[in-house]
Amino acid sequence: MKKRLPVLFVGHGSPMNAIENNEYSRAWSALGDKLEKPSAILSVSAHWFTRGTKLNDSPTPNMIYDMYGFPEELYQLKYPAPGSPELAYKAKALIGDFVTIDNNWGIDHGTWSVLNRVFPKADVPIVQLSVNAALTPEEHYAIGQKLQPLRDEGVLIFGSGNIVHNLSRVDWRMNDGQPWAQDFDHYISNAIFAKDHESVLHYELAGQPAELSVPSVDHFAPLLYVLGASNSDDEISSLNDSCTLGSMCMASYLFTPKQTS
Ligand code: ZN
Repeated sequence: MKKRLPVLFVGHGSPMNAIENNEYSRAWSALGDKLEKPSAILSVSAHWFTRGTKLNDSPTPNMIYDMYGFPEELYQLKYPAPGSPELAYKAKALIGDFVTIDNNWGIDHGTWSVLNRVFPKADVPIVQLSVNAALTPEEHYAIGQKLQPLRDEGVLIFGSGNIVHNLSRVDWRMNDGQPWAQDFDHYISNAIFAKDHESVLHYELAGQPAELSVPSVDHFAPLLYVLGASNSDDEISSLNDSCTLGSMCMASYLFTPKQTS
């Protein structure tokens, strides 16, 4: 049996983090230096927000430039990671028959902007799992729970989104968060470290900070998959625990299996 792998949620923020040398991208590179190389990655990206739950199974998935108005340099970036039909079918079998295979999308910037730093060689096969817009928080979490066995098969379960993400409230002058953004970020952080997943699933209990921080569930939901795939024994660490542009928080969480000797 292979060693159990961690589970990772990353707040991805601006697509420019893929090419800019900044505190976030440097932390992702440092994370890559310490993570064991997985045999494959199952990536739940905020940017594949779909009707129904979808997986891609192409051995050579397309890289999608699903963002507009950025410098040409970003569109020149290539992250030609292979796919893994084998992982796609395993994940489908674990999640259930309602999952459909769809290769019309591909690997979007939610996935490659971060993995370009964590695994820059692009040599780890990637399968993307979509965020089904119709599901409740509990249902997203339940899919994560079903995926847990993949951790024992060398697969890194990776969620990419942002815990606080409100583009209509972005303030380009700010390099930290509005008070409501920081409140919600702390609410979620406290719940994660307390392993109090109920408080994350019922994030609306945080009141107005939750409404402003999660105007749409797309960027928040990947965290629910990761928490579902985490285990009560996992050790939790965070990185990039800060907010930027007023309404975007970059907090990222790594759930590492407890070392047994
Ligand atoms: Zn995004």
